[in-house]
Amino acid sequence: MAGRGGSGEETVVIVGGGHAGAAACGFLRQFGFTGGIVLLSEEDVLPYHRPPLSKGVLTGRAAAGPPPLRPANFYRDNGIDLRLGAKVTGIDRTTRTVTMLDGGEVRYDWLILAMGARPWDLRCSGRGLAGVHLLRTLRDAERLKAEFRAGRRLAIVGGGYIGLEVAASARDCGMAVTVIEREARVLARVASPWISEFVRRRHEAQGVHFRLERGLERIEGERGATREVMLDDGQVLPVDLLLLGIGGVPNQELAFEAGLRCDDGIVVDGAGRTDDPAIFALGDVARQVIVPGTRGVRLECVSGALDQAKRTSAAIALAPLPQRDVATFWSDQYDMKLQAAGVLDGAGAIVFRQAPGGGKAMAFHLCEGRIAGVEAVNAGADFMAAKAMIAAGKAVDVVKLGDPDVPLGEVEVGQSG
Ligand SMILES: Cc1cc2nc3c(=O)[nH]c(=O)nc-3n(C[C@H](O)[C@H](O)[C@H](O)COP(=O)(O)OP(=O)(O)OC[C@H]3O[C@@H](n4cnc5c(N)ncnc54)[C@H](O)[C@@H]3O)c2cc1C
Repeated sequence: MAGRGGSGEETVVIVGGGHAGAAACGFLRQFGFTGGIVLLSEEDVLPYHRPPLSKGVLTGRAAAGPPPLRPANFYRDNGIDLRLGAKVTGIDRTTRTVTMLDGGEVRYDWLILAMGARPWDLRCSGRGLAGVHLLRTLRDAERLKAEFRAGRRLAIVGGGYIGLEVAASARDCGMAVTVIEREARVLARVASPWISEFVRRRHEAQGVHFRLERGLERIEGERGATREVMLDDGQVLPVDLLLLGIGGVPNQELAFEAGLRCDDGIVVDGAGRTDDPAIFALGDVARQVIVPGTRGVRLECVSGALDQAKRTSAAIALAPLPQRDVATFWSDQYDMKLQAAGVLDGAGAIVFRQAPGGGKAMAFHLCEGRIAGVEAVNAGADFMAAKAMIAAGKAVDVVKLGDPDVPLGEVEVGQSG
């Protein structure tokens, strides 16, 4: 395919070697971009899969560490100039250069910003004590893992996916776990009430304790180490370590300082373009506005990062823009495989389907009689079928949808929307 960069003289510089940045390298070549590609990664290891950090890396099942996204020779063989430990500190849009922490400069014709997100931090008394952790990078996971020992007491602030995955991993290692969650249910931001309930019960059956509708007031220590936490109702929990898992903040500062539009994420269109036509943003750091006039969404999942990398790379290589994939998320906790796809804003009706025996459940988010989003627990084949139904956009029979005895293939009734 003849793409942009056919002369080999243009250079794409990618800031951030996570799922989005590393994928963009591969897609650029796939779409025929033959110019230079420079991948600047602040981390000092080959770009790697982030999801195992809260799962196998902590339980020890991924003792060798998270697998690399691509082997080292991929970058060499594809003429990608991968620079590790390379932190970008500034963007000059007039000269089209990025400045590095070591003072070096790299010139770009096209710039892709893929700096991801960082965990929200808490400013409370005791935050600086040893034993208080955040989790985003391999180094964070190594520090946390070093403190995982049977019998130790872990408190997790935040009952979202990362908090619950760490809870499951810690129970697997024989630790005592309490989850402190400000909302009335876990996964409140990302799951329907049924799935929240299903997941919480599974954790309780595994011995996890929950303090719902509670916040962290302060952390107390002894000789510099965490000893107990006090909740906002005065309750005191003795703990040995604490994980703050209360969501992510986009690493958008570089873009903001360069004058690009940001709104809890760098604002981009469906192809990842910012308001500077030479600069794109993708992955956790980007807020995609697909429907003009709306605030758009900041997807924080691997499939979203890959899909955006594909579309941005096609746009730069002047290849036809690929169809947008239905965004998909997964999470592994104990023997539970949680999956979600599509729009889960709870704006329309939600239909719940639970198989007898209770091991498998699904929740369908409807919009004008069609499936707009789906959540599934241990229902892989039905999840894939539901994802195809979201893409097809056909109307469904709501009664049949809620009946686990009716195969999903028999619930569609209408024309595509
Ligand atoms: C513990 C954990 C578990 C997860 N589990 C799942 C899961 O099960 N399923 C799922 O779908 N998603 C999961 N996610 C989310 C998923 O990992 C992210 O959505 C994905 O990593 C986003 O990719 P990204 O490239 O945008 O950001 P990242 O992967 O965070 O990569 C961004 C990179 O940019 C670098 N960077 C930042 N600033 C600079 C700079 N100035 N200069 C140079 N480099 C810079 C960062 O150091 C980082 O290496 C998980 C995330 C975490 C943290």
